[in-house]
Amino acid sequence: MSRQVSLFGMHIDALRMDEVVAQLLTWVAARERCRYVVTPNVQHAVLFQEHAGLRQAYAHAALIVPDGAPLMLVARWLGRPLPERVPGSDLVPALFAAAQVRQGLKVYLMGAATGVGQRAAENIQRVWPRVEVVGVCSPPLGFEQDEAYNQALLRQINDAQPDVLLVGLGAPKQELWVHHHSAGLRVPVVLCVGAAIDFLAGHKRRAPVWLRRIGLEWLFRLASEPRRLWRRYARDACRFPLLVWREWR
Ligand code: UDP
Repeated sequence: MSRQVSLFGMHIDALRMDEVVAQLLTWVAARERCRYVVTPNVQHAVLFQEHAGLRQAYAHAALIVPDGAPLMLVARWLGRPLPERVPGSDLVPALFAAAQVRQGLKVYLMGAATGVGQRAAENIQRVWPRVEVVGVCSPPLGFEQDEAYNQALLRQINDAQPDVLLVGLGAPKQELWVHHHSAGLRVPVVLCVGAAIDFLAGHKRRAPVWLRRIGLEWLFRLASEPRRLWRRYARDACRFPLLVWREWR
């Protein structure tokens, strides 16, 4: 059991990227049950306070690893440091690279706009030839309400027998969907990864490494998609300082 850091009610696993990758590969090899991973950032911390469903999803997650630089900063400032950021968009390539030199990996991609998953699959196959993409699905808007669609999707995913399912639907939709359906998924590892499929496809550009290092990836994303993201960022910018103040008290 890893050390956990409590932050805004979330219990974050204090693990380095290489430890998380090793743990995921162990779970893949064991194929015991469906385990899922969530990657909190500021948006999650804010939603977590008001969304009981998200809290439930977090309560059943096998791993909770820190995605956002602001969370790292606050954790350090409060004297509860976390060893390293483990964003979904870095975890996925790290996992693929490790699998490439070991046993290989079968992956299913769920989420992102139509055609993006296919492009991501082509890039994955080119960069990590031992990582096999066994299925791609871009569910339509509102699919989560459609029981018949979800049952068919679960069958499709299970029939493809992936080792890892990447779910990129944005928060909290991806966490709620995975929590709700984990009992029906015969997949050992599910990763809730936000825009990682877009990045793998080259559909969206990731912030340069130097910006990520100084903790400003969020600014790059806001500048890349201001119309989609400004509302989310404005809401979080208003609420997050209050959460930090409460946590500090
Ligand atoms: N998305 C989706 N279906 C939906 C809502 C979102 O496939 O109903 C995808 C969207 O196309 C994008 C990803 O979910 O690829 C969400 O990215 P976001 O920027 O919200 O994730 P973040 O990395 O910020 O958590």
